[in-house]
Amino acid sequence: MRYSEMFLPTTREVPSDAEVKSHQLMIRAGLIRKLTGGIYSYLPLGYRVIKKFERIIREEMDRAGAQEVFLPAVQPAELWIESGRWSLYGKELLRVRDRHNRDYCIGPTHEEVITSIVRDEVQTYRQLPLNLYQIQTKFRDEIRPRFGVMRSREFGMKDAYSFDADEEGAGKSYQKMFDAYKRIFARCGLHFRAVEADSGAIGGSYSHEFMVTADSGEDALVYCPHCEYAANLEKAEVIKPAFRPIDAMTFLPLETVHTPDARTIEEVCSFLQVKPQDVVKTLVFVVDGKPLAVLVRGDHEINEIKLKNFFDADSIELASEDIIREVTGSPRGFAGPAGIKSDIIADYALMTMTNFVVGANRQDYHNKNCNIGRDFTIKTFADLRFITETDGCPRCGGPVTFARGIEVGHVFKLGTKYSKAMGATFLDKDGANKLLIMGCYGIGIGRTVAACVEQMNDNDGIIWPMPLAPFQVVVTPVNVSDQATIAAAESLYVELQKKGVEVLLDDRDERAGVKFKDADLIGIPLRVTIGAKRLAEGNLEVMLRKSKKISIVPLANVVDSVTGMIEAEMIDIRSKTGGEE
Ligand code: ATP
Ligand code: MG
Repeated sequence: MRYSEMFLPTTREVPSDAEVKSHQLMIRAGLIRKLTGGIYSYLPLGYRVIKKFERIIREEMDRAGAQEVFLPAVQPAELWIESGRWSLYGKELLRVRDRHNRDYCIGPTHEEVITSIVRDEVQTYRQLPLNLYQIQTKFRDEIRPRFGVMRSREFGMKDAYSFDADEEGAGKSYQKMFDAYKRIFARCGLHFRAVEADSGAIGGSYSHEFMVTADSGEDALVYCPHCEYAANLEKAEVIKPAFRPIDAMTFLPLETVHTPDARTIEEVCSFLQVKPQDVVKTLVFVVDGKPLAVLVRGDHEINEIKLKNFFDADSIELASEDIIREVTGSPRGFAGPAGIKSDIIADYALMTMTNFVVGANRQDYHNKNCNIGRDFTIKTFADLRFITETDGCPRCGGPVTFARGIEVGHVFKLGTKYSKAMGATFLDKDGANKLLIMGCYGIGIGRTVAACVEQMNDNDGIIWPMPLAPFQVVVTPVNVSDQATIAAAESLYVELQKKGVEVLLDDRDERAGVKFKDADLIGIPLRVTIGAKRLAEGNLEVMLRKSKKISIVPLANVVDSVTGMIEAEMIDIRSKTGGEE
């Protein structure tokens, strides 16, 4: 492609809503343009990268035995009513009505559609296992679209769905996708981690998120540098403390103290001159319509997902002021466990606590020296909070590290959730009619490309890894009015193309400085510079974008040299087996 003919509007202007580097660079390098909030167009350079990434995905999905389909973006409401998600999905679902007053949605995901197809077409175990995937546009009316295509409302996703006859098969299908994802992200040259993620009440490690590590990432993750353990913060387990019998002889007399206006942990601590570790927070929730008091240590944060999973609940929310009063007899901020009208459960950390501070269920009062067993009883202890830096690794006990990441992919064991709701069954070997066991597997196309930019850039611009680069080489004649220069550039352009190399020829009548700046900004991995002086000596310059290292190459060797470097850059990434950090 000739630069002079290419629609490649680079710009120095960065929109004020571009908070992260990748968003800024994708605009500046002319990859994307915003149409309206959370909705972006890909321009030619950006779309070349997208297509390259999609090709890598297709190769690895096909290699893993999945088959490509293409499902409709518009989905009838009936299917979503069957699965129960028409009412559960909420405002992220873009609903539309046609001229006959029928309801539809623009697909945010395709479990319903694929389950309806497979339900109709798969009758026996002989047709299993089956894995179908597509690359398609999704729409999610995100409450806070941001970071450009990283969290947009309309976005491309690769989604795959597996169907198996039994648990063992479903486990194999999951593993195949897990391995394929590792290869896909490794081939993009990304530093990433597969972390355990929440899978609802199914429990176990049946959901993994693929996180590209980046300080600007929206997700928090925890990993252990000593063993394999890695999880997102929501999921990360906390070790149960060793059982230590509590000696009631150490209990001090309960004391009710006046704590005017002290509602928060900080206020209570400063008033009573105690540490947050000596205080217990009492939070009243409504779990599937029933009030419940949850106790956590003052310096710990309750994890509502763990609470929801513990009860396998459909809904959980913090109680309203009215319910708090009804249950505890006191306003918010002074609730405590003694004498209240609901069940109480406590985080594991309370197993070893004695003589702690709690609310006294009375405006402006707290209780000191409160103790489990003497002053109130609990239903059970459970893991109900977020892990902290001082907790040990749940597998090996060593210290854990916190990091931030961008979720680029997600593999999930669905079990029979959709097949049950939608009646997707098959006839098994034993003649019994059984529910299909499903898995679903997603990769955000634009988000992954943006994550690459986020991880691979410098002050001058993007540094594309060779496998995703929109062009592999940019040929830059320094002075286009010099006949010898332009002749050499044109001939190299043709020769490289003959070898199958993707070349951008910067034939613009611009100063060399401008051309170099643009080449750096758009991040082409190799730049061949043709200047009159070196050319007279029979040489050219080849520069590697990522290191800015320049080699002087004789004109006669340049095609071999460039193709060799391209090959080396491709292998470099592929040879990183697994690619994980
Ligand atoms: P998030 O927690 O970031 O909202 P999610 O759990 O809703 O993600 P999934 O439903 O698992 O995402 O979708 C699969 C993949 O689609 C994600 O791993 C991500 O790469 C991509 N994706 C999800 N939402 C968006 C979005 N708003 N913009 C761009 N990509 C997205
Ligand atoms: Mg989401």
